[in-house]
Amino acid sequence: MANPVLVVGGGPSGLAASHALASVGQPVVLVEKESQLGGAPILSGYAKLVPSGEWAKDAIGGMVTRAEAADLVTVNTATTVQEFSGNPGAFRATLSDGSSVDASAAILCTGFTHFDSVNKPEWGFGLFPDVVTTTQVEQMISSGAGVRCPSDGRTPKRVAILLCVGSRDRQIGREWCSKVCCTVSSNLAMEIREELPDCHVYIYYMDIRTFGLYEDLYYWRSQEEFKVKYVKARIAEVTSDGDRLIVKGEDTLVKRPITIPFDMVVHAIGMDPNVDNMLLSSIFDVKLQKHGHIERASTYSAMAETSRPGVFVAGAATGPETIDDSIAQGQGAAMAALAVVNGALPQAAE
Ligand SMILES: Cc1cc2nc3c(=O)[nH]c(=O)nc-3n(C[C@H](O)[C@H](O)[C@H](O)COP(=O)(O)OP(=O)(O)OC[C@H]3O[C@@H](n4cnc5c(N)ncnc54)[C@H](O)[C@@H]3O)c2cc1C
Ligand code: SF4
Repeated sequence: MANPVLVVGGGPSGLAASHALASVGQPVVLVEKESQLGGAPILSGYAKLVPSGEWAKDAIGGMVTRAEAADLVTVNTATTVQEFSGNPGAFRATLSDGSSVDASAAILCTGFTHFDSVNKPEWGFGLFPDVVTTTQVEQMISSGAGVRCPSDGRTPKRVAILLCVGSRDRQIGREWCSKVCCTVSSNLAMEIREELPDCHVYIYYMDIRTFGLYEDLYYWRSQEEFKVKYVKARIAEVTSDGDRLIVKGEDTLVKRPITIPFDMVVHAIGMDPNVDNMLLSSIFDVKLQKHGHIERASTYSAMAETSRPGVFVAGAATGPETIDDSIAQGQGAAMAALAVVNGALPQAAE
């Protein structure tokens, strides 16, 4: 029997790749560095996902259960790959527990790291307890605790969501759009309004990128049905008057300074390259692209290929991606790995 395929990372893309391979009879060794599978939606406690509206713990939790139950998937949690050598069809990986795996091919599904808002100090995170991130609000909702100001547990009457925190910001070296945070923020705004009908929710934006079918489901619905207010603005700083948070900036539509008080300010944080990518690049001998994501060898003809034949990549490891696209890429990478298992030798990328 052919060697298993090594899948590194147990988020949506890695779970999808593992399932696709197992469902056609191909053994998989899945290596996940955290103690739990599920990737960002489970590890960070996301609430209802866009665009399906399903709870993350059900939708992605179901993928975890399926992988854990599959006879052909050997799951190694709290484990990393330390060394990787060999050629397509005959690789050898040494794991952090000292064991080794002979693998036909490898798929890197190692995802992203959430932007750390302390890198945007002028917007108050880390200084004021009621300046939080979208992941924190997701956790408040998914845990059932409800949306509350961390400083004293009160119910906020006014919430500002600031978009593009750690994305589209050349000053701090984040030139990319994180793709999903406009839609996630519109969704969170509606969830806050649903839980707290007396709370006013404002979204501060440069541009709104609720792309494709998300436009009416999120952008228009949040305004028309849920009365969320959108302010096109450049934010200068988030301060405090000792009582409430103050968001200062310029309304770029009317070109006037604005200073508005809030109880809670939410940073819509972006998707950074995985902090492990330099290490992964050196262990697997794969190239990174200029921002530090794992480079794909080709956009169209061999999308899952990296610079090293037999080592593939899928999902947010390649740059900001949605869950459904990450799953599709995981399945595509599984197909490419299967070709190696069956003796097709991928070409080295230029
Ligand atoms: C606040 C926020 C909300 C979001 N909400 C949505 C939403 O509602 N809908 C949507 O479509 N998208 C959403 N996204 C995007 C979503 O998180 C990604 O599309 C998705 O997580 C990508 O899946 P992935 O498997 O590629 O990566 P990840 O989910 O990042 O999973 C990668 C896995 O690899 C593991 N790993 C990392 N490094 C290593 C290593 N060195 N060795 C072994 N394992 C490793 C990680 O622990 C993790 O389990 C949101 C993003 C943010 C920031
Ligand atoms: S999706 Fe929206 S919030 Fe996220 S980086 Fe792009 S424009 Fe900014």
